[in-house]
Amino acid sequence: MVFTRFCPAFSEDILDGFTGPELFGQGVSYTYDDVIFLPGHINFGAHEVDLTSYVTRNIKLRTPLVSSPMDTVTEAGMAVAMAAVGGMGVIHYNNSLEEQLHEVKTAKNHSPGFVVHPVCMQPTATVADVAALKERRGLSSVCITDTGKVGGKLLGMVTTRDWDFVTDLHTPLSEVMTADLETAEYDTITAEKAMQLLKASKRGKLPIVGAGGELLALATRALFREDARMPFGGPASVAPDGRLLVGAAVGTRDADRERVAALRDVGHVDVVVLDSSQGDSTFQVSMVQHIKREHPGLDVICGNVVTSWQARRLIEAGADALRVGMGSGSICTTQEVCAVGRGQATAVYHTARLANSLGVPVIADGGIQNSGNVVKALALGASAVMCGSLFAGTAEAPGDYQSVNGVRVKKYRGMGSLEAMTKGSEVRYHSDTQSLKIAQGVSGTVRDKGSVRRNVPYMVQAVKQGFQDLGAKSIADAWQRLDSGEQRLESRTGAAQAEGGIHDMHSYEKKSW
Ligand code: 5GP
Repeated sequence: MVFTRFCPAFSEDILDGFTGPELFGQGVSYTYDDVIFLPGHINFGAHEVDLTSYVTRNIKLRTPLVSSPMDTVTEAGMAVAMAAVGGMGVIHYNNSLEEQLHEVKTAKNHSPGFVVHPVCMQPTATVADVAALKERRGLSSVCITDTGKVGGKLLGMVTTRDWDFVTDLHTPLSEVMTADLETAEYDTITAEKAMQLLKASKRGKLPIVGAGGELLALATRALFREDARMPFGGPASVAPDGRLLVGAAVGTRDADRERVAALRDVGHVDVVVLDSSQGDSTFQVSMVQHIKREHPGLDVICGNVVTSWQARRLIEAGADALRVGMGSGSICTTQEVCAVGRGQATAVYHTARLANSLGVPVIADGGIQNSGNVVKALALGASAVMCGSLFAGTAEAPGDYQSVNGVRVKKYRGMGSLEAMTKGSEVRYHSDTQSLKIAQGVSGTVRDKGSVRRNVPYMVQAVKQGFQDLGAKSIADAWQRLDSGEQRLESRTGAAQAEGGIHDMHSYEKKSW
């Protein structure tokens, strides 16, 4: 005989798990890993999920991913790659105004298929310098300009064929370089034309120059070949001016007002991020008010915040988006040093609930380790996620790879590490006026992660699959499910978290894509 149990069909009691307010209203600070979403009903394909969202009040992204304004994460190369995959990069400001402006202009002026920062040397550099570069970065060609930098007058190029039989390593590059080069003019060249010229000439490189012969970019066969192999994702993030969408970070000191004006008027930056680890300050309130008054068309992302009150103050001051997270970053020691912050899942849930009700998007910043964390951040109310460590160590991140015990790594450091603060980032931690500097971050390395252009499309596909499992076709759908109580959640015990990871294997290979 079948044993029948009583289950009250279609009544409240049939619901498993908890609603958002029930789970997040218990006085517990949850991280992403503490929380799990219960699945919903699937009646659509993962390809039908649309992750398009507003990253600020006025700026829409097809891919809700933003690279962090950190000096080991976002300069022009990363900003270009992030825009190319439908996201956005925010260029850091741990540098002079001229240097930051140069990065912004390089990214804004970028044409698809061109190398943003070709390696340059002066004609007085030697064969030994090129050999060392090849050893360090695997690069075999160098542009020779009078200044040794992009923007200098192009004098020639050196490839391996120019120097591999030269025995005197002190030979200056002026003696071995190829000076008779085919070049293309920046104002008239397109990616398609560059590819045709490379095909016709059978050459590997085509320098792109300005009207005065100054080197501005480089088109290469290798890059076109690589682009053709990338997984197709969709259109790039383009600003109303028809160029790639680019953000830049600034501080809240008086000098930063001048920085904002230059970034906007000369660099044509599309959005600025007021970069502070604790954004609920009078400095930030007056800075956002100033920008909204002086540059009315420029969107401002304020933060960082983790509570509804902080969020409200910055929204009332004029914020067009909020960056949420305090102490959740992979390189961050704020919670340990200052005992202040909040578990990231709880912070996103509470701040987004308030901000979204006032029409202001939230960017979940820090602590993203995998696609599951992205699903959780978005479904809890974020419109986009900001990542540092996920993008550090990629080909597009600043800096060279090094080999440590046979592993290829790149530098990744917190902007509150002593090393970064020595260069100027202490203002982010309100530490610039203190004689004793206290670190709120660490400095180290991360493994080579390949290219952002290749990784992001896979990451997006994984997030879409997560949304399909939730039964949500879009970010707005997921929020609606959360608000109506249809989306059920639970917290995970330590054992449940261990069970949710890989276990009981003798050995395994973990390849995500
Ligand atoms: P990740 O994606 O690596 O987990 O976190 C990156 C985020 O951590 C950044 O976007 C920024 O908000 C934050 N962050 C960057 N550097 C530091 C630091 O040195 N200390 C702290 N407290 N946070 C940092």
